[in-house]
Amino acid sequence: MVITIQNIIDEEAQLEVKCMGCQKIVIFRGERLLAELGRLEAVRDVQLRLKCNRCGNPALITAVWPDEAISRERTRNVLNKSKSPN
Ligand SMILES: [Zn+2]
Repeated sequence: MVITIQNIIDEEAQLEVKCMGCQKIVIFRGERLLAELGRLEAVRDVQLRLKCNRCGNPALITAVWPDEAISRERTRNVLNKSKSPN
């Protein structure tokens, strides 16, 4: 399955792009900024083409789900468990 930038937007995740040379980190979060990478682009293709604007080395992309994107569901899960008869 190809994971696209649009999938990252839909899943409320953010992308951390870390330079393998100088370790500079750039974070792409929010729909507007992520869309600039190209909504239909595969994340692996983005990683393939990105180069550090400081030293020119390739970068690694990591997807992160910020806590605020998850906390609603965590709260719901805790409530469901506490209501369980077990
Ligand atoms: Zn760099």
